[in-house]
Amino acid sequence: MPIIGTPLSPSATRVMLLGSGELGKEVMIALQRLGVETIAVDRYDHAPGHQVAHHAHTIDMSDPEQLRALIESERPDIVVPEIEAIATATLESLEAQGLVRVIPTARAARLTMDREGIRRLAAETLGVPTSPYCFCESPDALRSAIDDGIGYPCIIKPVMSSSGKGQSKLNGPEDLQQAWDYAMAGGRVSHGRVIVEGFVDFDYEITLLTVRALDADGNAQTHFCEPIGHAQVAGDYVESWQPQAMNPEALRKAQHIAQAVTQDLGGLGVFGVEFFIRGEEVWFSEVSPRPHDTGLVTMISQWQSEFELHARAILGLPVSTALRAAGASAVIYGGVDAKDVVFEGVGDALGVPQTELRLFGKPESYVRRRMGVALAYDDTVDAARARAQRAASSIKIKPAASL
Ligand code: AMP
Repeated sequence: MPIIGTPLSPSATRVMLLGSGELGKEVMIALQRLGVETIAVDRYDHAPGHQVAHHAHTIDMSDPEQLRALIESERPDIVVPEIEAIATATLESLEAQGLVRVIPTARAARLTMDREGIRRLAAETLGVPTSPYCFCESPDALRSAIDDGIGYPCIIKPVMSSSGKGQSKLNGPEDLQQAWDYAMAGGRVSHGRVIVEGFVDFDYEITLLTVRALDADGNAQTHFCEPIGHAQVAGDYVESWQPQAMNPEALRKAQHIAQAVTQDLGGLGVFGVEFFIRGEEVWFSEVSPRPHDTGLVTMISQWQSEFELHARAILGLPVSTALRAAGASAVIYGGVDAKDVVFEGVGDALGVPQTELRLFGKPESYVRRRMGVALAYDDTVDAARARAQRAASSIKIKPAASL
């Protein structure tokens, strides 16, 4: 069994989070509860995780030199990537030199840093069912891929993007140029490369949180949380709930695929494995080798949230994925572009029984930026969803200057 030292002393167990948004912040809180010394890294000052960590750094994590210099100077025991846009080749080389342990592995961070590595691994190497897809680098290539088999409707997404940025649905050839331009503008690092996917007409979609953790004999075992259902608007999650009722055969297939994909990626920790489901049919969509935004609900619906599970798993500690109650999360968007905002209606939100709030403390609000989340539990998922939505809609975000 692992031992944990004393923070801020030579014996400290030191964990560095690469990405310190709302998810990284919760991982660090969970780690600190276990006596771990935390180092928060993000691309901007006063990120949510910076506000709770022992040490805070602001660097460009996609710059190999900056990343290497920081890791070499801080010498963490464990590096936990919390975002995709990281110089993963640097992590691979530091891991190969035995200088750090990367969660779950540096290879997993590389394969999942864009849509291509993981899609090819799942569909082409592991033979997992996915939507039909093609990677394209020009509007002409896109047109041919669609005409040669993918067909309409289809979805195009920048190879490197998240939260629906640059993603759009094409109903016919007339949408093509606009969708291409939108993808080029929305990609995080504009590689000029997109994935086009056949549109899957699913009944519902899930995130299957899958945990790889050590058992008492030191062997990695796979644990599944109850499936999480979620609603997306413009490619970004607005609401999630747990458990999502599922056809047992579809659940069995999803667990089987999640086991195969996470086993191939290896290492220890939480993975968010996303699927589209129709009846008994299951399509793998993507996987995050880290806690997933739709899994924020687990802070109220599970005994051990996905963040606590991640913290425990990476430290080699036992985990339990048991459900505590039916739960729901509802996202609180900024609704306004402004620095230094105030949150009104917090009392009203928390006046809704069986709810909690997380206000992330981001220094700047954008209309579509996730600034907080409302959480609720109840006897049924529907009742929990209604409570979470009521709480979330009570919050009004305004520029402090407007008061
Ligand atoms: P992604 O960024 O790939 O997770 O996509 C965001 C959301 O867009 C998904 O959660 C789905 O709701 C929707 N979506 C993505 N790809 C497809 C697809 N091939 N067919 C239908 N819906 C999709």
